[in-house]
Amino acid sequence: MLSYRHGFHAGNHADVLKHFVLIQLLNYLNQKDTAYTYVDTHAGAGLYSLDGGYASKNAEYETGIAPLWLRDDLPAALQEYLDFVKTLNPSGKMRYYPGSPYCADQLMRDQDRLRLFELHPSEIKILSENFRKLDAHRAAQGERTTVRGKRVIINAGDGFEGLKALLPPPSRRGLVLIDPPYEVKDDYRRVKVCLEDALQRFPTGTYAVWYPVLARIESKQLPDRLKRIPANGWLNVTLSISGPTPDGYGLHSSGMFIINPPWTLEATLREVMPYLLKVLGTDAGAKINIESGETETIGRKPSRPEALVRRPIRSTPIKSENKGGNKIGKGIGNRSGNKN
Ligand code: SAM
Repeated sequence: MLSYRHGFHAGNHADVLKHFVLIQLLNYLNQKDTAYTYVDTHAGAGLYSLDGGYASKNAEYETGIAPLWLRDDLPAALQEYLDFVKTLNPSGKMRYYPGSPYCADQLMRDQDRLRLFELHPSEIKILSENFRKLDAHRAAQGERTTVRGKRVIINAGDGFEGLKALLPPPSRRGLVLIDPPYEVKDDYRRVKVCLEDALQRFPTGTYAVWYPVLARIESKQLPDRLKRIPANGWLNVTLSISGPTPDGYGLHSSGMFIINPPWTLEATLREVMPYLLKVLGTDAGAKINIESGETETIGRKPSRPEALVRRPIRSTPIKSENKGGNKIGKGIGNRSGNKN
């Protein structure tokens, strides 16, 4: 089923969480000169217009990027993310929102490789066109080109399947973002199967999975299933901007599950997530949770000695103090697509 269009959801609270974490992961990889490969198994269109088209229909960005736009008290790491989005909007007006391929393209270096998968025939066209324009812009400025070289390859295909052939990456350094629509319940199963296979092929890679926190059983079970996949460690962070609605409708909560996370990420999240809760939370049901743990040590010696010690799961649920709340956008569309 291919009815999902990410444009309807661009810049919402779930995108803020996902892209903030993604930027942290890319910045961490950039600390070493050695090349790495970034794989986006579900790339979307790459870039979204907020002041027209799909995004303006439900204005979901009002639940995410909009409340952050004019604030001047952001924690440093979140400020970096906001500054990044603002470079796309040099007039100062919030007009464009970057998708994960654009975030990666802008932050990755010449020596790194982007491998993007997208199945939707219209989205792949827009994604390719967006990269063609970026390429032309770079060429006009005498800068490196991307699509014409080997740096960016856009695949019109199934990302769960396509990932297999790319692992392990030549430099043995890599980040994989898995961000399916979850319109069909099989996506939950495929995420787990895909990760199990990927970790066999490339045990030291970093894998980031976005998931919706919904009432449906597959969604509730997903994080626990991912925790049991053998890896060197995991980090799970969720952001709920409100309690569930009485009819259970709408996406108010989502998570990022990271396998083999950089050791710096948890501390950054502990600084930033309470701020996101304060600014994006809309009622007393808003909350965040950060938990981490280790399963089995496989594939490599962890770079920090303490990672060898099996430690219990650390979990910090924090509730909102926001009783009245910020206004949120008209309808909060569900990742399952029923609001589109
Ligand atoms: N990762 C993007 C971002 O953060 O900007 C958003 C991706 S969107 C949530 C999910 C995308 O996956 C949709 O564009 C959809 O067409 C595409 N898709 C669905 N199933 C797919 C599959 N099996 N392989 C590749 N793409 C798929």
